[in-house]
Amino acid sequence: MNHPIFAANWKMNHGPSEARAFMKTFLTQYPRHYDRTIIFFPPTACIETVDREVEGRSDILVGAQNIHWEDQGAFTGEISGQIARDAGATVVLVGHSERRHVFGETDEDTAKKCAAAERAGLRPMLCVGEKLEEREAGKTEEVVLRQLRAGFSKLAQIDSFNPIVAYEPVWAIGTGRTATADDASATHGVIREELKAIVGDRARAIPVLYGGSVNSGNASSLLSAPDVDGVLVGGASLDTGSWISIVRTRLTAEIAAEELASGE
Ligand code: PEP
Repeated sequence: MNHPIFAANWKMNHGPSEARAFMKTFLTQYPRHYDRTIIFFPPTACIETVDREVEGRSDILVGAQNIHWEDQGAFTGEISGQIARDAGATVVLVGHSERRHVFGETDEDTAKKCAAAERAGLRPMLCVGEKLEEREAGKTEEVVLRQLRAGFSKLAQIDSFNPIVAYEPVWAIGTGRTATADDASATHGVIREELKAIVGDRARAIPVLYGGSVNSGNASSLLSAPDVDGVLVGGASLDTGSWISIVRTRLTAEIAAEELASGE
């Protein structure tokens, strides 16, 4: 497994004051670990707040939940990749299921947004995943591969680019239903094969995260599944206690013991 990534998608929760308080608690209780990376996707209005709080912690990145595909202009209510970058984001979620299924974002939109992220120097985290009826119709692979190919279809430098993929079955998001580690691993394997077809050997270095009702009870088994390089977490990332226990998943016993001894 690659160095694991633990990503928190706060969705439309936690304004600047809550975000600041959350980060102060989190940073006090979670010391740096060099074997893992944490990414926070706060609401746009809190990107700068979170970025300021994590200054000096290279194990923690801040991302935007969404960007527009144009670089600037008359798009009231939107932000560009450059604006997100300027606020402190280095990563951006693209094609999250709520963007696709609540806001009607298409594969074409995700392609343009990945290209906009590339122009802005942001790393896109492309989310792919099938709806329940697609799964029941045996179309998981077809849907995921279509979304994956489309999302990366407009990148200018696909050969040197470093995106992240998140497999998030729509039926598992916010529902309490999680894919089994075996199911997640099987779809991640399909994604990895397709990434190889797109970027060759570099595919091994592209993290493929699982998302969908991940919590402190199931994170360990999902993270031990082959081809699962991390988790993207919504609901369970909103509370410092549950988020800290998720990001500590599979820390070695030695590190945990040292922390306990030093009172960290
Ligand atoms: C998400 O929003 O990306 C997500 C996975 O949500 P939850 O963990 O709440 O299912």
